[in-house]
Amino acid sequence: MNNKNECVNIKKGKVWLVGAGPGEMSLITLKGRDVLADADVVVYDALVRGGMMSLLPEGAELIYVGKRAGNHTMKQDEINALLLEKALEGKKVVRLKGGDPFLFGRGGEELELLVKNGIDFEIVPGVTSAFAAPAYAGIPVTHRDYCRGVSVITGHRKSNGCLDVNFKALAETGNTLVFLMGMSTKEIIVNGLLEAGMAGDTPAAIVEKGTTSSQRVLTTDLVHLVEIAEANHAEAPAVIVIGHTAGLAERLKWRDSLPLNGVRAVVTRPKELSSGLASMLRKKGAEVIEVPVIGIEPIPDNDRLRDAISLLKEGGYKWIVLTSPSGVRVFFDELMKTADVRALAGCRIAAIGKGTETELAKRGLLADMIPSKFDGRTLGAELSRLLEPGDRILIPRASIGNKALNEELSKVNDIIIDDIATYDTVYRAAEWFDAAKELADPETFALFTSASGVRGFVNAYPDMDHSMVKAICIGAMTASEAEKHGMKVWVSEEAMLTSLADRLMQASKELSDNEG
Ligand code: SAH
Repeated sequence: MNNKNECVNIKKGKVWLVGAGPGEMSLITLKGRDVLADADVVVYDALVRGGMMSLLPEGAELIYVGKRAGNHTMKQDEINALLLEKALEGKKVVRLKGGDPFLFGRGGEELELLVKNGIDFEIVPGVTSAFAAPAYAGIPVTHRDYCRGVSVITGHRKSNGCLDVNFKALAETGNTLVFLMGMSTKEIIVNGLLEAGMAGDTPAAIVEKGTTSSQRVLTTDLVHLVEIAEANHAEAPAVIVIGHTAGLAERLKWRDSLPLNGVRAVVTRPKELSSGLASMLRKKGAEVIEVPVIGIEPIPDNDRLRDAISLLKEGGYKWIVLTSPSGVRVFFDELMKTADVRALAGCRIAAIGKGTETELAKRGLLADMIPSKFDGRTLGAELSRLLEPGDRILIPRASIGNKALNEELSKVNDIIIDDIATYDTVYRAAEWFDAAKELADPETFALFTSASGVRGFVNAYPDMDHSMVKAICIGAMTASEAEKHGMKVWVSEEAMLTSLADRLMQASKELSDNEG
């Protein structure tokens, strides 16, 4: 019946040319995020920050085509051919580019070959660095009192080595001038504008790595621009802004007042748990990279679990014990294949702690008991007081479950414990995340919310020097695990994400004070 549609789908894939935005990850558009979440293949280059990769679905193929030390950039026609090849395989291909894909992004060129071969495509515009980098520096690119427009100009030389910019025409517009790719030609730009009659004291600014945690803003005037850039070792990627509006940066700067401005946080929690922490840190001004080093893999064709669910439906269990949010998710995914929450009607529920409780609440269930301390031994000891001879207990949980829970429960006579492994915890490195390089950065911290998170990180990145990791940890257990691996540790005693943010702020301040 669906044959016709299926044929069409199988035949060809599609390409989305997507703007990733200027740097800070949350500046991608909603549409860009949706398209990424659905991608089979993502082809990206150097301007795309690593944080973006957490938006990809698991298993998506990642292809880097940018420049990296020692490697040459993939040639443009090779990139075009790659997009075509993947689309012809029937894949959903995202070509992810920094800023807006059509602004100095060669987006147009990449589409030509697709058009020729009848491949469908869509364009998802992005927030361009030409406007966003100035905005994050407090520079409005137009202002009614100072200019009638803005010009965005490339500072990239043509293949014949010339810059080929009509400086006279530009100077006459009175527009704010925004130069991209202008760091290696800044001298030609400045001289060109001065010769064209622009005043030497025209305000100017360089915004380096705009919108990222490493953003730097240098304000000066036209005649001093080169000198200031060199004295401060300003580097690409940077935009150069010239015009009266550049002079507003001092008054309109806003980013410095965010408490975590300039801080980069690597969040290592499993994907399902990291977004709350990540968005809280972003609101405080940090750049966040989500690198889930721990993944959850449900055990496939789990006969023991299926049998247990049948018994549950017959009222065979007095208690079900849930020991992690992932445990709740995996259990209910299996349950819902053959039943719904009413299967639990006659059964009491024990949850190990807040996260587990929250996950249950999403399914309309309240826990009947939560231990006074959130660990396996306390849970076992306190639950065993509520048990009666003959009770049968279901514990669906990780294959590496905590033994203390069972030890405590086994002290009660004449009960049956069905401890069933429902998922494996796997450690994996994100291929796009160069941990050793990223964590060497003085403003980059790793955040750990559990000892298993620390172990996950160390297992995922075994070859790096862990002593260079600056670790912000929740709780003494997490901290002592991090110390065991030689990490530099700041610990937040309270198991609250906001206190983790406070500790991060303190750590970053301590380090920058030391430097100063
Ligand atoms: N399509 C991109 C521009 C690509 S050209 C966009 O719309 O932003 C590359 C140039 O963009 C760099 O040389 C630099 O001038 C500028 N650029 C990109 N990201 C930047 C950033 N985060 N801060 C400042 N300039 C940036």
